[in-house]
Amino acid sequence: MYEITCDVAVVGGGPAGLAAAVAAKKEGAKDVLIIERDSALGGILQQCIHPGFGLTYYNEELTGPEYAGRFEEEAVKEGVKALLNSMVLEVDPEEGNILCVNSAYGMTKVKAKAVVLAMGCRERTRANIMIPGTRPAGVYTAGTAQRLINRQNEIVGKTMVILGSGDIGMIMARRMTLEGAKVVAVVEIMDYLAGLTRNKVQCLDDFGIPLKLSHTVTRIQGNERVEGVWVAEVDENKIPIPETEEYIPCDTLLLSVGLIPENELTRAAQIEVSPITNGPTVNQFMQTSFPAVFACGNVVHVNDLVDNVTVESMKAGAGAARYALGTLPDTENSVTVATGENVRYTCPQRIVQGEGTDKVRLYFRVLRPDQNVIIRAVSKGKVLAKRKAVRVNPGEMEHLEVHPEEIADGEITVEVVKEA
Ligand SMILES: Cc1cc2nc3c(=O)[nH]c(=O)nc-3n(C[C@H](O)[C@H](O)[C@H](O)COP(=O)(O)OP(=O)(O)OC[C@H]3O[C@@H](n4cnc5c(N)ncnc54)[C@H](O)[C@@H]3O)c2cc1C
Repeated sequence: MYEITCDVAVVGGGPAGLAAAVAAKKEGAKDVLIIERDSALGGILQQCIHPGFGLTYYNEELTGPEYAGRFEEEAVKEGVKALLNSMVLEVDPEEGNILCVNSAYGMTKVKAKAVVLAMGCRERTRANIMIPGTRPAGVYTAGTAQRLINRQNEIVGKTMVILGSGDIGMIMARRMTLEGAKVVAVVEIMDYLAGLTRNKVQCLDDFGIPLKLSHTVTRIQGNERVEGVWVAEVDENKIPIPETEEYIPCDTLLLSVGLIPENELTRAAQIEVSPITNGPTVNQFMQTSFPAVFACGNVVHVNDLVDNVTVESMKAGAGAARYALGTLPDTENSVTVATGENVRYTCPQRIVQGEGTDKVRLYFRVLRPDQNVIIRAVSKGKVLAKRKAVRVNPGEMEHLEVHPEEIADGEITVEVVKEA
């Protein structure tokens, strides 16, 4: 079997994997290898030709390919190697052995001192949400439709309904309109927007596309091709109200109903996975439950902004390099971050205290929308960090910074409470 050895191996060459690889090199790792199943680096950004990337990291508005291109150039400059067309099949978290199949070398073994998982996520499909009705052509995930139009110049339909107000759905509502299609409605089962407010303004409001909150698609109609969909309002338990059902003629239904982190490799390796994020649990070095394995990007938790992915992934790459070089502080003992009032999860979930630890940025999402709140981290009654927020929304990631040394008796809670 073909064999490669390296200090740090990164699984996945999207923005997370690229940033991790660059950071690993800058931290002093000698050989850094990205293993990517696609024929090019850049991950999902290759098909995101709209602007909106890099606003905080570069203070510039870039398209997805431009943002990925900058990191690719940096990776080349730093001497990062890439094994393309290579599907990773197995990760041994104790030994750092990675088994992949490569189109040129066949089965290939990569032996690394530290591994970074950066496999991204995939879209939920019609099967995942079980929409009743017939099985005609014309039902696509929004990301598939995006890939077809932006990379293959194929438009998937003329009149469409979009189910789900996630960012991909809203961005595709605008894209399809610009391509001449009619987007009749964006339908959202929750009573609030799933994606970023900026995308609602720029992609729906600016184009007069109606958003139907607290509504869902109850049935798909059509034999060969979609002829229309039935849409109904839902009650507070998300159950469709029969008398509100209406028929919308259309030839296409696009689904933007959530993303699933690609953690088949993680689970098979027995790495601890959070039931909330469906990604590996990590400490502030983005180190998983196995010391030699780090993780970053959408495989850890679904991110709306690539800039946040970059910041986290650089920590993962630097952490992996330090592990490989033997300079990472002892991370065996850590404090678990508790989720308090209106906090769904935090990332990292664990904080290591002691020598060599620095300020930690805790990313988190709220459970439900709210207004005029205080976001804070509390330890034994002492407020470690806090800020006011005019509004919070599950679709928008929040963050706070805390210093590990300020955490008392291993107790820290992040909470979002009403302003007194
Ligand atoms: C449609 C869409 C629009 C977006 N718009 C914006 C925006 O306007 N602004 C913004 O800031 N952010 C935006 N984002 C978010 C941002 O692009 C993502 O958060 C970011 O791309 C995630 O990066 P990643 O590297 O974790 O995942 P990905 O980009 O998905 O990369 C994962 C990589 O891993 C590879 N891989 C997976 N499994 C394996 C395996 N077993 N073996 C080898 N390789 C593997 C994949 O092929 C892929 O290349 C958008 C995202 C989407 C999907």
